[in-house]
Amino acid sequence: MSNFYEEKVLSVHHWTDSLFSFTATRDPSFRFLNGQFTMIGIEVEGRPLLRAYSMVSSSYDENLEFFSIKVANGPLTSRLQHLKVGDKLIVGRKATGTLVLDNLVPGKHLYLLGTGTGLAPFLSIIRDPETYERYEKVILVHGCRTVAELAYGDQITEVLPNDEYLGEAVREKLIYYPTVTREAFRNTGRITDLIQSYKIFEDIGLPPLDVEADRVMLCGSPAMIQETRALLDGRGFSEGSQAEAGHFVIEKAFVER
Ligand SMILES: Cc1cc2nc3c(=O)[nH]c(=O)nc-3n(C[C@H](O)[C@H](O)[C@H](O)COP(=O)(O)OP(=O)(O)OC[C@H]3O[C@@H](n4cnc5c(N)ncnc54)[C@H](O)[C@@H]3O)c2cc1C
Repeated sequence: MSNFYEEKVLSVHHWTDSLFSFTATRDPSFRFLNGQFTMIGIEVEGRPLLRAYSMVSSSYDENLEFFSIKVANGPLTSRLQHLKVGDKLIVGRKATGTLVLDNLVPGKHLYLLGTGTGLAPFLSIIRDPETYERYEKVILVHGCRTVAELAYGDQITEVLPNDEYLGEAVREKLIYYPTVTREAFRNTGRITDLIQSYKIFEDIGLPPLDVEADRVMLCGSPAMIQETRALLDGRGFSEGSQAEAGHFVIEKAFVER
């Protein structure tokens, strides 16, 4: 059996010059946990060219969805950005990753801190009914440079709260906090600065990060991860993994090459 599925692209949506999303068919035997990633890609000169991608879609969705950067000279994304409906997409059979609910010890509030395409795994987690069963509040923070890069904002604020099954839990528990660093907006500044200045907690009406109550998932650039991890370490949070659940878990949104 091959390690890959061959799927078909169903739709493509370009958010900006550097960000796009696409959906594809999903083999019914492809299983994953919300928050995980797998290898996806296309065939180039007869060979698979693959990269790690988080699933935006939830484990119960019929189709797959991904949220992607467009890197000008990136081997995969310089090509992937030209995907069209009907094109073939290669999807790895084995999903993995640390951003899963079971890797966190129980808590009251779940903070999902993502920058750029680091939002992707959290879109899957905020559509998981289990997330709302385990936490009193779920705070999704998305940091970008510009407002245009705050992809999925309408789905989070308009579509999800009206969802037939999840709507009530979302309306009661989900707090969405988008923030940008390079232009004027209702929330501005880097995530770490907003935590350290307590500004975010004043804005959302919750107490500052506390190891007794709060659990955190992080997905962003290597620099963002490093900085936020240091901040959490300094507040007594321990990192969780598949082997042992902790107070926070991290996943790099990409690797510097
Ligand atoms: C665990 C994991 C999950 C990932 N999930 C996603 C995802 O859901 N969506 C996604 O677009 N990418 C994701 N990536 C990154 C992805 O694997 C590729 O790096 C990306 O698709 C670019 O591929 P490329 O071949 O065009 O360029 P690469 O040669 O892979 O990357 C070239 C350079 O582009 C920059 N870069 C790459 N990816 C990003 C990014 N996402 N945001 C900002 N800068 C970037 C980095 O500086 C990198 O050195 C993930 C990476 C990891 C490790």
